[in-house]
Amino acid sequence: MVKKNTLLLASAFALAAGAAQAEAPDVVVSIKPIHSLVASIMQGVGKPALIVEGAASPHTYSMKPSNAAALQDASVVFWVGHGLEAFLEKPLESLGTSAKIVELDDAPGLEKLKFREGGAFEAHDDGDEHEAASADAHDGSHEAEGHHHDEGEFDMHLWLDPQNAKAMAADIEKTLAEVDPANAGAYKANLDSLNARFDTLDKTLAETVAPIKDKPFIVFHDAYQYFEKRYGVKVAGSITVSPETMPGAERISQIHKKIQELGATCVFAEPQFEPKLVNVVLEGTSAKSGTLDPEAATLEAGPDLYFKLMESIGTSLKACLSSNS
Ligand SMILES: [Zn+2]
Repeated sequence: MVKKNTLLLASAFALAAGAAQAEAPDVVVSIKPIHSLVASIMQGVGKPALIVEGAASPHTYSMKPSNAAALQDASVVFWVGHGLEAFLEKPLESLGTSAKIVELDDAPGLEKLKFREGGAFEAHDDGDEHEAASADAHDGSHEAEGHHHDEGEFDMHLWLDPQNAKAMAADIEKTLAEVDPANAGAYKANLDSLNARFDTLDKTLAETVAPIKDKPFIVFHDAYQYFEKRYGVKVAGSITVSPETMPGAERISQIHKKIQELGATCVFAEPQFEPKLVNVVLEGTSAKSGTLDPEAATLEAGPDLYFKLMESIGTSLKACLSSNS
């Protein structure tokens, strides 16, 4: 009896030791949509840490001491890149570890779109919308045009097209398999099922928005270019030029005018920004309001977040625009 217990105990230790050998690498991810893709690929192996948690916005985020500590211990860091998570630039440069840093806007196979500055977004003065520190220098000035595009030439809301999410997921899987070959089989299997989910999502979204494709609408910030291109929906303008800077009276009246020109439409707020502005824009028009959450401020982090984020953009657009014809 005693002998049997000892054996059981010994095999329990052996199991624990085996598990420790296949332990997951310490992975840190910048923002929720990307974190969701990494969490899917690491399912059954481990859980990645997330920097921009809760309702925080990547456009206005400040690093916390706990974020710096997580970066110090990381073996892999995934971020979108210089044009989006400006708050990460200095910490990543000064990071004194051997962490592998992966900038996902370099993922092979991504379709990247330039910042748009014309057409419906004519008041989009300089495209430097992700650099909070310099936002105060931009108000109403076109003089500095072109100075900032060395790092931020492209629209960085890359994840809002499932084909781009697929390209980033492939890059994530490749990186994890290199860093942690013991779990390469699990990463590959998870990538395969993730790819199947992307295909289903793509079909669902195309069907969801098909009836409202031709109805122009107004958004809070110009985040939706990839979604628009993929599914053919029509953003007619954005309330803010940059998410860090509140629009002035002139821009509000331009948007107001645009709504009147378009006739009935929808104006979409975003959960982490001031809803009052949307009411100001709506005043005296027959437009309705809805909410879009392109950076997942209201969603719980995890493998399913990416799919909830994308599906809710489709259903919110459909709900508002089909009730308003
Ligand atoms: Zn954004």
